[in-house]
Amino acid sequence: MAMVRLLPAFKDYLWGGTKLKENYNKKSDLDIVAESWELSTHKDGQSIVDSGEDQGMLFGDYLQKLGKEALGTKGAAFENFPILIKFIDAKGNLSIQVHPNNEYAMRVEKEYGKTEMWYILDAEEGASLYYGTNKEITKEEFRERIENNTLLDVLKSVPVHKGDVFFIEAGTIHAIGEGIVICEIQQNSNTTYRVYDFGRVGADGKPRELHIDKAIDVSNLTPLESDFKPCGEVKTYDGYQVAMMASCDYFTTYIYEVKSECSVKVDEESFASFVIVDGEGTIESDDTMLSIRKGDSIFATAGTGSVRVKGNCRFILSRV
Ligand SMILES: [Zn+2]
Repeated sequence: MAMVRLLPAFKDYLWGGTKLKENYNKKSDLDIVAESWELSTHKDGQSIVDSGEDQGMLFGDYLQKLGKEALGTKGAAFENFPILIKFIDAKGNLSIQVHPNNEYAMRVEKEYGKTEMWYILDAEEGASLYYGTNKEITKEEFRERIENNTLLDVLKSVPVHKGDVFFIEAGTIHAIGEGIVICEIQQNSNTTYRVYDFGRVGADGKPRELHIDKAIDVSNLTPLESDFKPCGEVKTYDGYQVAMMASCDYFTTYIYEVKSECSVKVDEESFASFVIVDGEGTIESDDTMLSIRKGDSIFATAGTGSVRVKGNCRFILSRV
């Protein structure tokens, strides 16, 4: 049983901005911070333990040291650590993209597929994103529209507001639009099939690679319904409010609004991730107490028991 603070791995992708450094207490030498990987064992960017006797250890090595019980019975059922959590600052538009499901990704990419969800932390006036198609299209039409740069005409553009929740099942064509800051909870995967990049070039002056054939294999070309709110009702208790945001085979996430104090039971079924998205306070288990503030990421092993969050803050709880 243990609870630690994590430091993220940073990514300076070309569409990123500086809000994670300015508004989310992120410390990085990079000029641009597009993403911070707050709970990650992925080889492309691991989080680092930042408290306790294992401070400085890569998060993957730390979990190895603790053994599979740390993940809980549901978490340990996965061959690899199941989830990855990021902050994303989209100063520019992200490419139009799609991710494969588990079956396709394991077969073709030898890693997990990518179902993901987004909690909108901040959105500039008029910000929007693309979420699936706005009408049924065929694979042939999909390919044609990629090739003649008219794909945007058949994508559903959705206005975005602070607090919205998007569930992006693998196969959903999507793109985060400019002026949005997101917390993303996703399967532990870095497989993205890019289909349109707004005619941009990368740092090397060349267009970034597209992955059209694979995208056509995996894309859902039927429009989707969603109301972009937490899937559960808001429940009010003494000292806090909570709502379930999304639940799927890979993760279940909740948004907590703490006014004075709340208690979360971290049982033997799953580890827990606490990502602080606003405010500050403290987090306590039976043997550990850590201060927390906006931007922090806290990991508690399965079986940690009662975890108390005190203060005035908002956090995302993620479990398997
Ligand atoms: Zn994505």
